[in-house]
Amino acid sequence: MSTKLGCIADDFTGATDLAALMARSGVPVSLRIGIPDTAQTDTTPADTAPIEVIALKIRTEPAEQAVSAALKALQWLQKSGADTFFWKYCSTFDSTDKGNIGPVAEALMAALGVDQTLYCPAFPENGRSVYMGKLFVGRQLLSESPMKDHPLTPMRDSDLVRLLTPQTSRPVGLIDHPVVSRGGEAIRRELAMLRAKGVAHVVTDAVCIDDLSAIADAARDMQLLTGGSAVALSLPALLCPEHIGKNDSSGRSRTPPAAKAILLSGSCSAMTRQQVTRYRATGAPALRLDPVELNDQGLSQTEAWLSEQDLSHAPLIYATAEPDQVAHAQQTLGAAKAGELIEQALAHCALVARRLGARRFVIAGGETSGAVTKSLAVSRLDIGPEIAPGVPWTFCRSGEAEIALTLKSGNFGSPDFFTDALRIAEAS
Ligand code: ADP
Repeated sequence: MSTKLGCIADDFTGATDLAALMARSGVPVSLRIGIPDTAQTDTTPADTAPIEVIALKIRTEPAEQAVSAALKALQWLQKSGADTFFWKYCSTFDSTDKGNIGPVAEALMAALGVDQTLYCPAFPENGRSVYMGKLFVGRQLLSESPMKDHPLTPMRDSDLVRLLTPQTSRPVGLIDHPVVSRGGEAIRRELAMLRAKGVAHVVTDAVCIDDLSAIADAARDMQLLTGGSAVALSLPALLCPEHIGKNDSSGRSRTPPAAKAILLSGSCSAMTRQQVTRYRATGAPALRLDPVELNDQGLSQTEAWLSEQDLSHAPLIYATAEPDQVAHAQQTLGAAKAGELIEQALAHCALVARRLGARRFVIAGGETSGAVTKSLAVSRLDIGPEIAPGVPWTFCRSGEAEIALTLKSGNFGSPDFFTDALRIAEAS
């Protein structure tokens, strides 16, 4: 099938979130991990779906590398036939002054020859809303939410225009809620007015699903949209209505029968901290990793512990820690080194667990998911049942094994996410 909508996600949990939400429409969605091999050749990609999502791990890469990867992904999507594109980032706008949301958007705009795009990170179902250009997480401003302490992208400002301005070279504007609430036509008029003033980057308010539908409708003729996953929810029906209902659920039947499971958490987000506490309280086996200890002692103790576990009891290995513990590790090792040590350790644990027979992998954390998925050498995921909004089980090949994998973004899921995931895997 030729592709209509091509999506590029800046991390792996974001990509599964996006794919899961769009798959709700019944339109076939295919998720590729990393830039497909055929990107380097003249071969027309085979076996493509009307909606293709490419998961990259570029949220915290240097901007030039992020841009280069996104452009390669774009080329592959264009070769697949896509003529509309979606640049997906986190609903909490995870980025720094240097990027990568703005630089990638500008590079995609230049490659496509478009002079304006939209930014809509809102995900009301998960408590992310944007009002007067300010991003809220539940009732808190982004800058007052736990995102202010994120280990890699601490968000200390809530104003999206202010956040985006240093990341871009062209003017940034806002379509605020009084306009959005008047619907698609009003938004389209405002976009045209802003375009006439030279505004290239347009942030949009959205506090509910109707706002998102109106924004998607207003943008249906735009070649490039950017945002969190929620605004993309209505794109399949708008862009590929002829494919609705063609999404076979073969993924479900591919659930591996073996019940052996491993849970790996490198997320320090507030919700993951609750989820780890809740799961440990069930009495499940759990091992905490500390970056400073890992740096001193290496991985042998972790590996020894894992080898002794009965994986039918779904052990948890976690680096999840409180902000003061993260700050201590970062002061001792530097933030990048601390993060890398944890990511490498958890990626290695995933491989050891697979060798020990694990076929279900629950991974918490966007960067962590990228590292684990890479070490498991997964290249394509089928989307299965959603455990929580935006967090599906996925099915794939890893080495010789068929495995089930769920990649959970830090703040997603309810406090019982880990047990929910295992229960849903049993039932599907
Ligand atoms: P989230 O989805 O919550 O943002 P990520 O995996 O994307 O989670 O990011 C968390 C980052 O923090 C990772 O790079 C991880 O390796 C790092 N990290 C995890 N635990 C610790 C810790 N105890 N100290 C320092 N850094 C940590």
